[in-house]
Amino acid sequence: MNEAYCINLARMSATYVKIIFQIVFMGILAATSLCHAKELAITFDDAPTPDSALMSGNERTQKIIAALQKAKVPDALFFVQADRLNKSTQMRLDQYAAAGFHIANHSYSHQSASALGKKNYIADAKSAHLLLKNQNNFLPFHRFPYLDCGKDKSSILAIRDSLSELGYKDGYITIANYDWHISNLLAKASENKKNINYENAKKFYVDTLFSAIEFYDEVARKALGKSPKHVLLLHENDAAALFLGDLIAHLRSKGWKIISPQKAYEDPISRDLSNISYHHQNRVAAIARRSGIPEDKLYHVSENVDYLDKAFVEAGVVY
Ligand SMILES: [Zn+2]
Repeated sequence: MNEAYCINLARMSATYVKIIFQIVFMGILAATSLCHAKELAITFDDAPTPDSALMSGNERTQKIIAALQKAKVPDALFFVQADRLNKSTQMRLDQYAAAGFHIANHSYSHQSASALGKKNYIADAKSAHLLLKNQNNFLPFHRFPYLDCGKDKSSILAIRDSLSELGYKDGYITIANYDWHISNLLAKASENKKNINYENAKKFYVDTLFSAIEFYDEVARKALGKSPKHVLLLHENDAAALFLGDLIAHLRSKGWKIISPQKAYEDPISRDLSNISYHHQNRVAAIARRSGIPEDKLYHVSENVDYLDKAFVEAGVVY
């Protein structure tokens, strides 16, 4: 055997070994992604919400707790608008905490940080902090009303610094939707003494939300190359009280796993603040925007009041 032949043989063997390694590696990757359930935590904004034509606030709390417990959801986080606290609503927070769920800060008066300006927003969040910090099962997460973190980069950074001095972490979301509008449509139908077809309403709520959840997971996969631990934004509203259990069952039937918000906030995207100025939507959208995905591809079709009004009628929810 001459030297050139030996070198060629060695090169060929090295190439074969490399190819075999690549095949094994790709196989492991494929198996991992197949086995890895998509994960999502459930959070509720604007608690404790007022009575509606459909149900009292107390009833709403009972139904949400019952649905979470029946579905054995490991934890849920309730972001509180602190100016809604009084003797009766305080009891509702105590009930969430007694059931093992957690309480967090969603400002005092629910005004946008851009509108209030940095000084007033910080004061507003601090007022909420004083009322919330000693609540049972309080966790130091803060979520901005309307997901608006401030008017410009310097305000955003100043507000963030003040919140972290108070010990807060960002209660960002990854999945937005207009559940609040669906709930308003239902309450309005009840107020106007219309008949509600609850089977159709359930299907409409579950299908609309599930479609938004899958949409943002797809955006995340494009931007990150994988599915992160998601944080779903819901509101403490009638629609959730009525159909939360059905949404959870549907998610699980499609391979989703419900995790605790604390676990979701351990995902590496919790530390990704590289597109801090793009804040009015959600963390996945900010990362996707940075990776060049155009803004008009970052909203789900149902994040539109006119679309939902029309779809609500077409779904035969009210008759
Ligand atoms: Zn809110």
